[in-house]
Amino acid sequence: MSSSGNTIKGGDIITIENGLLKVPDKPIIPFIEGDGIGADVWRASRRVLDAAIEKAYDNQRTINWIEALAGEKAFNKTGEWLPSETLEMCREYLVAIKGPLTTPIGGGFRSLNVTLRQVLDLYVCIRPVRWFNGVPSPVKEPNSVDMVIFRENTEDIYAGIEFEEGTTECKKFLSLMETNFPDLFEKIRFPNTSGMGLKPVSQEGTTRLVRAAINYAIANDRKSLTFVHKGNIMKFTEGAFRNWGYDYVEKEFPDNAYTWEQWEKTNAMKGAKAANLEQEKELASGKILVKDAIADITLQQVLTRPKEFDVIATMNLNGDYLSDALAAQVGGIGIAPGGNVNYETGHAIFEATHGTAPKYANLDKVNPGSVLLSGEMMLRYLGWTEAADLIIASMDKTISSRFVTYDFARLMDNPNEVKCSEFATKLVENL
Ligand code: NAP
Repeated sequence: MSSSGNTIKGGDIITIENGLLKVPDKPIIPFIEGDGIGADVWRASRRVLDAAIEKAYDNQRTINWIEALAGEKAFNKTGEWLPSETLEMCREYLVAIKGPLTTPIGGGFRSLNVTLRQVLDLYVCIRPVRWFNGVPSPVKEPNSVDMVIFRENTEDIYAGIEFEEGTTECKKFLSLMETNFPDLFEKIRFPNTSGMGLKPVSQEGTTRLVRAAINYAIANDRKSLTFVHKGNIMKFTEGAFRNWGYDYVEKEFPDNAYTWEQWEKTNAMKGAKAANLEQEKELASGKILVKDAIADITLQQVLTRPKEFDVIATMNLNGDYLSDALAAQVGGIGIAPGGNVNYETGHAIFEATHGTAPKYANLDKVNPGSVLLSGEMMLRYLGWTEAADLIIASMDKTISSRFVTYDFARLMDNPNEVKCSEFATKLVENL
């Protein structure tokens, strides 16, 4: 029985062996509907996902969806925001999908999303950013935007190691610093009124993220991998991330990747001009170019020179900023998908990147694109690429024929504005 009282009627469990997922034809996959607009977007997305699977595999494959409770729905039914049974289901069935969840105020944890990521050690947050034909965009050439961000999900300033200003803990921490690291303590401008935070960045954490990113780049025939960091300022955390990243790909992927530095050494004598360096690098070999970029200039260049970015590996905070900024170029959070994955254990939760937008709850109004495209990512993760491709093609066709929800309609001339459920119906028709 699931926490919602559903009986599991059939289907099978996804497992992992030697790092490879074993996906049965009728896998059981838990879904967390989500709060606020969650019910609307999940209902619409599920219809399209099921229809795409049916179309691609003619009933040979189906997903045996099973509800897992979290958020307000869980609280109202069980008195808990995140019942332990839900965590158990995510653990047991490996792959899950979720809508947006309200962050309970005054609860024992900061966020249900963060808790799920931490408990399952979902160390990569994948955010693909691509443009669909017809999506309104603030940039001139949104069709040049095709990037996949691999954001580290467990470390950095987001680890939650913080000391509130004025508390005993904070004073104790500052006094430890003063005693043991007087030179560093001196750098704290106003120690008596400072809150403090720690930024752990490890070699293991970096390596597993970079492994996921380079493997993705190789498997998906991408051109480059860029480490985005602020290593010029934070040398032993962000700078170390960059250096460990380069060391790792040079050592472990000599046949598939070459670094900027390696390329320059090999080709410096051939008189390549800086202006066509990128092109030359691509022509020079079929390998993936591995390079790095400082975070602040990256935020500018992803707008002005999007073609130069492909797969991106970055730390938690940079990744957070970058993925939302990029999402704005290709239609905003209503359509931006995400997936949180641990490639060693196979655990993965694919999820809406937007929140619960309570003012639109149950109005059948919002864009279901974020959850639907998260489901599309999930299908690719399962290896069900035919169904995933159908969804992408249908999105392109539906949006380019101007059938869109309110969020796109308000930015378009002569749109065919449809409700959330009607958008799903159009998508199913266009599969
Ligand atoms: P939000 O729910 O994402 O809504 C902000 C605005 O984004 C909406 O008012 C709407 O813009 C637009 N939007 C969101 N989803 C959309 C969709 N599917 N289609 C079209 N437009 C959409 O952010 P919030 O109001 O700051 O947060 C509300 C709650 O959600 C909070 O409890 C927060 O903690 C939670 N939250 C959860 C997650 C998660 O579960 N992953 C993420 C973020 C926030 P317009 O008003 O312009 O129409």
